[in-house]
This record gives sequence, structure tokens and C-alpha cells, in this order.
Amino acid sequence: STVYANPGAAGSVVSYRPRYDNFIGGEYVPPAKGQYFQNVTPVTGQVFTEVARGTAEDVDRAVEAGWKAFESWKRTSPTERSNILLKIADVMEQNLELLAVAETWENGKPVRETLAADIPLAIDHFRYFAGALRAQEGGISELDHDTIAYHFHEPLGVVGQIIPWNFPLLMATWKLAPALAAGNCVVLKPAEQTPASIHVWLDLVKDLLPAGVLNIVNGFGIEAGAPLASHPRIRKVAFTGETTTGRLIMQYASENLIPVTLELGGKSPNVFFADVAEQKDSFYDKALEGFSFFALNQGEVCTCPSRALVQRSIYDGFVGDALERVKKVKQGNPLDTSTMIGAQASNDQLEKILSYMDIGRQEGAKVLIGGDRADLGGELSGGFYVNPTVFEGQNSMRIFQEEIFGPVLSLTSFDTFDEAISIANDTLYGLGAGVWSRDVNTLYRAGRAIEAGRVWSNTYHQYPAHAAFGGYKQSGIGRENHKMMLDHYQQTKNLLVSY
Ligand code: NAD
Repeated sequence: STVYANPGAAGSVVSYRPRYDNFIGGEYVPPAKGQYFQNVTPVTGQVFTEVARGTAEDVDRAVEAGWKAFESWKRTSPTERSNILLKIADVMEQNLELLAVAETWENGKPVRETLAADIPLAIDHFRYFAGALRAQEGGISELDHDTIAYHFHEPLGVVGQIIPWNFPLLMATWKLAPALAAGNCVVLKPAEQTPASIHVWLDLVKDLLPAGVLNIVNGFGIEAGAPLASHPRIRKVAFTGETTTGRLIMQYASENLIPVTLELGGKSPNVFFADVAEQKDSFYDKALEGFSFFALNQGEVCTCPSRALVQRSIYDGFVGDALERVKKVKQGNPLDTSTMIGAQASNDQLEKILSYMDIGRQEGAKVLIGGDRADLGGELSGGFYVNPTVFEGQNSMRIFQEEIFGPVLSLTSFDTFDEAISIANDTLYGLGAGVWSRDVNTLYRAGRAIEAGRVWSNTYHQYPAHAAFGGYKQSGIGRENHKMMLDHYQQTKNLLVSY
């Protein structure tokens, strides 16, 4: 395996600037109030750079810069915009290692993942929307011989985008690619826990976009996010984060009657039907791996399969094998390419996960594995590491109902198909779900019966750009990915012409 050097140390592929300002109208601009906040790496717990602490005044300037740029950006052709997105993708591909290490240092996730998944998916996302834009068509209908209705797509204008810390660059890309492709200008607010990697990315791509088309205001949720989401001059707000914050975003948006896209929390069920254990073959191994996916990205995934439902007739054997599999998920230095689980993104997140472990024990859930903080020694002992944990209990417990956002699995059993569906749906959320069976009929019936925007069957954690992603119930409103996102960032203009 390769161990990448810590940024700042000799031989590192990344070097951060000591300070990052806001990016407004094509330039780095100091925050109006002159304040900065420190950015900590979860790998070692050390401060590594400081970032502008933006406020309403900075948001005003950014929205203004966006409208100024919109005048000419809205007149660019789909071909021009598509080519820009393709160039952004190419530059990212040429700098894959740089972006992957920056993302790992900032978030704590393993570089093995950022190299193979986060950054390649982000690159593909730009390419997908570059292509989808070229293929987008309007419509013409003849009302009578001399009267024609034309339908055009027009961009919305300046849109606000607010992203979380769990996949900083990928979440930015999910929002930026369709918005820019559709001809909008953007004001983006990164999460305060992970503001720097987007600037490493920006340094690579900023000259490819006209000034003011993309603006970045850093800062905290209330100080910078709320003024953005409630700004009277934005035409849409897209948000990914907690369900409670999503409610606030919708309130702000209602004041200005603008559309929202909300990607919120989840408590996704992962259902294993008895036939997976009919044979101990490669399919069985795949299902065991699917069980262990709750620990992927340290469990900091909105679709984390954080509830496992195993059919009672195979429960003991399957769970025993699955726990052996979980033990093989290697935890360690995120910059080591052999590491499969790294650090939680922040100290707050670490504390939240540890408190849920206490709650699980108090509720009477049984710890089958893990259940505590991990001390990885050396310079990593200051980092934010948790042992992958499996609790056995009942779906009514808080650890089954509330989003923990850590490598913590809540495991229970079921007898019948109907009982499995009823437990799976007994949650406020409806983002993702997994179903494992050798019987396609079971997969189809379960897939249709589970109330979730994405149901994986005999697979999990795949996020292709062309598959629609989003939540049922309190997991959100609207979808991301898929070419339908272009429509979500556009108005329909109808011209009705009598010749
Ligand atoms: P969060 O809601 O606290 O923060 C997300 C973003 O919103 C940050 O940029 C934050 O600064 C900003 N924000 C916070 N309060 C705000 C306010 N009042 N007005 C405007 N902006 C505000 O969420 P988090 O703790 O950073 O992220 C973790 C959560 O995100 C988890 O619950 C997870 O399930 C969810 N998530 C969902 C998806 C999805 O696609 N559905 C993806 C990733 C994360």
C-alpha cells in the first residue's frame, strides 16, 4: 500500500494556503467583517488553515456578482457551457491525487475511497451533465395551421446551494454541474467543517468559468447559510444536510416563494432474506459485504444502511459470518491506501456518535461488536476515530429511529416478508434501502413496497450520475442526479406565435 504524506510535510501532493477568503465575482475577497475560523483535520486533530467567516454582507455581494455575470452567461450556448464542464472534468482528472488527498485530509475519509469513488464520481458528474445538456430539446406544437407554441428552457438566474461535510467535493458537484449546465449563476456555501478542499478544486478550475458565474461564501449555517437561503434575489435554493435544517430552509424559501431541492437525513434498512444463505457461495459473500457497508465512509452517508433486518431462520449463522466480515474492515490512517475506515469528520460528530452508543446501551440494546472510541496511536491519537459497532435490538429504540451518522449498525430480525416491509417502513425517513435475495420476485416486491427514493437490490452504495437520487417522507424534496435535474434548474418559457 501507499501512504500519502500529510499536507504540509515533505513530499505531499497538496499544499494549502494559510488562509482562504470568499470567492466573489472571480476574485478572492476578504470577509466583510474581517473574521476567519480555523479548519481542523480529523486525521490528527490539528489546525491546518483558516477560512473566511462569511456573513449576510458577503452573501449580498456574491448574489450581486452572480446577477452581473448572469447577463452574459445566460446567452452562452449549450455547446459552450457543455465544453466548459468537460474541461473542468479533464482538469480534475489530471489532478486526481491532489483532489483525493485534499478531500481525505479535510474530511478524514480513506484516500482509497476518494481516489476510487468520490473524485471519479465528481468528474463523471460534470461529464454527464455536459452530455445531458447537449441532448436537451425544447418543443414545438402546432395549434392550427398558422399558430405555433414553442417551449424553451431558460435558466432560473442566481441560485443558492448549501452543502454538508460528508462528501464535500461530490456534494458540491451534484449541485454545481446541473445548475451551471442549465445556465444559472451560483452562490455556494460549503460546510464549516470542510471548507478547504473546494478551494483546492477552485484553484484548478476558476479560470475556466467567467467571473461571477460561481461564487463561494464560506461560513457557518446561521451566519452565512441562512442569509443565502433567505436572500430575496436568489431564484432557487438547493440544500443537503439535516432534516431539521431542511425545515428551516423551506421556511426561508417560502418567504420568497422559490423552489427548493432538499436532500436530508436517512435511516436506511438493509434487508437480508433467508435464501441468501442457501449456499455459502460468492453471492453469500457479496451479501456479507453488503452488511458491512454500514461502516463505509465511517457511516457518514445519508443512505448509510444503518438498520440491518435479517430473517430469523438464518439469523445466528448469517450474523456470525457477517460480524467476522466486519472485523476485516481495516481501520487506520486515512492517507494509507489500504485503510477502509478512517476518521469521523469532526470532534462534534465523534461526540454525537459516542453519545448514541450510550443511548443504545441504556435502551438495553446488546453490543455485538465495537461500542467505543478507537485510539490508533501515534499522531493519529488526536484524530476522531470510532470502532465499527453493531447493536442488536428492536426497531422502536432510538438507535433504530434517529440518524447517528457514524459506523453504528442497529440489527434486528423478522419472520415474514410483510414483517420485513413493515419494519423497513417504520421510520420517518425514506432515502435509501437495500434488499438481498436470490429470488427476483422477492427483490421486485420488496423494492416496490419499501418507501424510499432509492432501493438497491443485491448491491448497495452505487451512485451513478444517471440514476435519480432523493428522499421519500422526511428525507427530502426533489431529486438530484439524472438529466431531470436540468429541468429543476430551469424555467419553461412558452412563446405562442400567430404567423
Ligand atoms: P447541517 O444541516 O447542520 O448542515 C448542512 C449545511 O447547512 C452546512 O453547510 C451548514 O452550515 C448549513 N446550515 C446549517 N444551519 C443552517 C441554517 N439555519 N440555514 C442555512 N444553512 C444552514 O447538517 P450536517 O450536520 O452538516 O450534515 C449531516 C446531515 O446531512 C446528516 O443528517 C445527513 O443525513 C445529511 N445528509 C444528507 C444527504 C442527502 O443527500 N440526503 C447527503 C449528505 C448528508
